[in-house]
Amino acid sequence: MPDNYLNIQQALQKIELANEVFLKKKASFPIRPIEKVRKVGEILLARKEEFGRVITEEMGKALYESYAEIEKSALNCTFYADHCEEFLADRSYSTDKYDALVRYEPLGVILGVMPWNFPFWQAFRFAIPTILAGNTIVLKHASNVPKSAQLIEDIFLEAGFEPGTYLNLPLESRHIEEVLNHPYVKAVSLTGSEKAGSSVAEIAGRNIKKSVLELGGSNAFIVLDDADLSITVDRAIDARFRNAGQSCIAAKRFLVQEGIYEEFLSKFSERVKEIKLGDPFDPTTTMGPMSREDLAEELENQVTKSVEMGAKVLVGGNRNGAYFEPTILTDITTEMPVFKEETFGPVAVIMKVNSLEESIQLSNLTSFGLGVSIFSKNVNLLKENIHLFEEGAVFLNQMVRSDPALPFGGVKKSGFGRELSEEGIREFVNTKTVFIA
Ligand code: NDP
Repeated sequence: MPDNYLNIQQALQKIELANEVFLKKKASFPIRPIEKVRKVGEILLARKEEFGRVITEEMGKALYESYAEIEKSALNCTFYADHCEEFLADRSYSTDKYDALVRYEPLGVILGVMPWNFPFWQAFRFAIPTILAGNTIVLKHASNVPKSAQLIEDIFLEAGFEPGTYLNLPLESRHIEEVLNHPYVKAVSLTGSEKAGSSVAEIAGRNIKKSVLELGGSNAFIVLDDADLSITVDRAIDARFRNAGQSCIAAKRFLVQEGIYEEFLSKFSERVKEIKLGDPFDPTTTMGPMSREDLAEELENQVTKSVEMGAKVLVGGNRNGAYFEPTILTDITTEMPVFKEETFGPVAVIMKVNSLEESIQLSNLTSFGLGVSIFSKNVNLLKENIHLFEEGAVFLNQMVRSDPALPFGGVKKSGFGRELSEEGIREFVNTKTVFIA
């Protein structure tokens, strides 16, 4: 447990402070802290190198990836500063019998439970729209990123936010139940594993409080015979190996049509062998270690069990501590752990398919439903089939990625609710109907 962890009494005091600040802000509703949010974005960019180094030190991603994470967090600030008024504007509705309007009012203190894989992005992605909607936040970050967690609170303070608007809540997860039971805490947003998500949603449900869950994914990356490999291979590398594969929206299962299979496999393998695994602070490194050794061991177990069931290691496959080689597995069956479970690390699983129909069927053969990428020059054919994918997002000729302007979230065991865009800023509001006779 990190040194700065709070006991439950200290945590409850923070919740009281967050509620006091909420009530004060509520009195001046709907004045939104747009300029302070812009300032948060400016601080992020001005101190990108410092923050990026902390991310790399704490969770191991290559430094250039940490800088990109800071830039994206700043972009989220600008996006919501520009659009929050429009997304939360009153909506009028009139008939010859009455006038009405719909207003979006804040709920109160919202709890965030966030993971380590994008320690800045995950927190800002949740916090910026939630605060602009008028709420305050207490955020329990992952235990392996304590410095990032505190820096984020400090950034809000430096931008001029009143203490209590955004509070870091360094707390053991066993105390989350008491936090969610507290009457001032109105809702929760969790990003993380299925286990953590179902536990937190259960507590929220018992309290009749809203939860938004962004959990795992086992995205398929489909390559049809007529795909343009000059872009597809680049995207495939990025989609699987960015952040050492530790992303819910990473491509985990590659479904490649038989006519292009050999060529794709050969080009993809060449590129995977070029990935430079090493010290994440070394500027020539293209992939850092995994975030924790226990997670690398878990991935190794999934690979070992799958190999015992007949999978072949085409590239990589070895682990040294938290360093896991970029790996390609072939000869996959749908019973293997690397197909059935989420692989949260740099392991690409490649299967041959004979048709679009088969790729759709295999893509859906997972308990998750976050996103899918399909590569083909026949965009019209792809568009006709979008409805057949059980996913929160379908990306045509692009890797699945998040964008502040587009809703983000899943179906099935990937969770529920949406983040980002207009949908994201309306998750933690009271949609109030006002009827005027
Ligand atoms: P966890 O789900 O355990 O951690 C994510 C966050 O949830 C952390 O803040 C963690 O706190 C907290 N948490 C864990 N258990 C509970 C609980 N019972 N009640 C309340 N909060 C809880 O993920 P791991 O770090 O263990 O990673 C395991 C797997 O989860 C990965 O291999 C991957 O499959 C998935 N994952 C998915 C992510 C995504 O982006 N969707 C991100 C990270 C992981 P603490 O650190 O204190 O345990």
